[in-house]
Amino acid sequence: PTEDYENLRRRVYSNTKELWYYINHELSKVLYDDNKVEKIKAILDQVAERKRSLLSDQEKLPELDGYHEWRQLEAANVSDLVQRRLHHLQNPSDCRDARKLICNLNKGCGFGCQLHHIVYCLIFAYATERTLILNSKGWRYNNKGWDYVFHPISDSCTTAYDDKVLQWPVAYDAKVVSLPFIDSISQKPKFLPLAIPKDLAHSAHGNVRGVSRIVRFNGDPASWWIGQMLKYILKPRASLQKAINETVAKMNFKTPIVGVHIRRTDKVGTEAAFHHIHEYMTHVKDYYDQLELTRKVDVRRVYLATDDANVLEDARKKFPEYEFLGDPSIAKTAATHRRYTPLSLTGLLVDLHMLSMCDYIVCTFSSQVGRVAYEMMQTNRVDASNAFFSLDDIYYFGGQNAHDRVAVLPHTAGAQQEISLQVGDLIGIAGNHWNGYGRGTNKRTNANGLVPWYKTADHLVLYPFPEYKEVPM
Ligand code: GDP
Repeated sequence: PTEDYENLRRRVYSNTKELWYYINHELSKVLYDDNKVEKIKAILDQVAERKRSLLSDQEKLPELDGYHEWRQLEAANVSDLVQRRLHHLQNPSDCRDARKLICNLNKGCGFGCQLHHIVYCLIFAYATERTLILNSKGWRYNNKGWDYVFHPISDSCTTAYDDKVLQWPVAYDAKVVSLPFIDSISQKPKFLPLAIPKDLAHSAHGNVRGVSRIVRFNGDPASWWIGQMLKYILKPRASLQKAINETVAKMNFKTPIVGVHIRRTDKVGTEAAFHHIHEYMTHVKDYYDQLELTRKVDVRRVYLATDDANVLEDARKKFPEYEFLGDPSIAKTAATHRRYTPLSLTGLLVDLHMLSMCDYIVCTFSSQVGRVAYEMMQTNRVDASNAFFSLDDIYYFGGQNAHDRVAVLPHTAGAQQEISLQVGDLIGIAGNHWNGYGRGTNKRTNANGLVPWYKTADHLVLYPFPEYKEVPM
């Protein structure tokens, strides 16, 4: 490691202690202060500043540790490998003979939800070594089908001919299988999200036997893997790409920029709570305050994507110190009943593309649009796992298998509602409350309650997917 790296590492260590000295001293003093409210507010501001400095320093660590270029190269190589394996799977040498999986794109939901439906089918296809056939006639966004808007997911194999179709679950050698929606599949296979292929997490090929791959360059391998499926699927045809490019060209898109996704209309009150624009902007401000520790920011830009036609104007009025990019006509189309038209699809793709290009996004992961934007970010940089803030849910894949965290520090339940942990305990989690605690169930003791998040780590599920050895590494 370089001298700069070692110095920065020591600085983070020492400034973590400094943060404690400060908090300890100030809060002890405030105990005996008559003007508590004012004092505590001032302390909070100071702590936030020191937190930003610590995070800012730690973000520089991977640029200085000597592995920066290695990470770039490795991320590109593993992505390329996944894309080539998918291409191989989707283009068998003899289509008539190939084992197939059939999925229907008639899921009655929005585009984010439908994309995740195809992702689920493609992961299923990859795990069971079947070519995915996507049936999309009568698709709600384009009656003629997916292939009229996007490039087909196979160049050479797009029909099951008139072979007999069996419903999943079936034996391995069944030739053509059709898949139900993820919500209605009985006995979920273990390869479904958030599992990732073991051979890509820890490669076991040739002379790189046992070497970790995805887990070394990315902090959230499950969403990286899902992002790779999207990368394979989402290839707009020329006319759609042209429409996207033209809209994008009209916007003054420049970095630094923070993306904000505000999901309202039919979602609010049914599947998610209402969040005021101020809640999103608090995190945007925090992002820029931190950035300004290390560089000058001339304009605080925000790309605003929403399905609520009034939000953009409202945001511009309430936050004149920010420059908001966004297209009111896109939001308007999204907000109306013309949601499932080709026009609304173009608007949503513009929004998704722009959000994914932002340095950071603030959104609600209860929305599939927010999650798709993040998954796309995971494909256009080495590691986007710290490039978002979700106001509600932690990241998940609809219909996923149980998501656990593992205790890495022991904990004895103290305050009411807390649960105890032994190192190695698996905790099925319901969510992070973003206050230092999350709620979950300890699978060893069955106790349900609050868990100090910092004493746990994400439990990554590695599944032995087929290794596609016929595709060169
Ligand atoms: P969810 O309901 O938010 O989980 O996501 P879905 O994709 O399943 O359905 C929401 C639909 O609302 C999308 O497919 C879009 O048609 C529309 N929508 C939501 N947010 C946006 C946005 O930011 N921009 C645009 N253009 N459309 C949006």
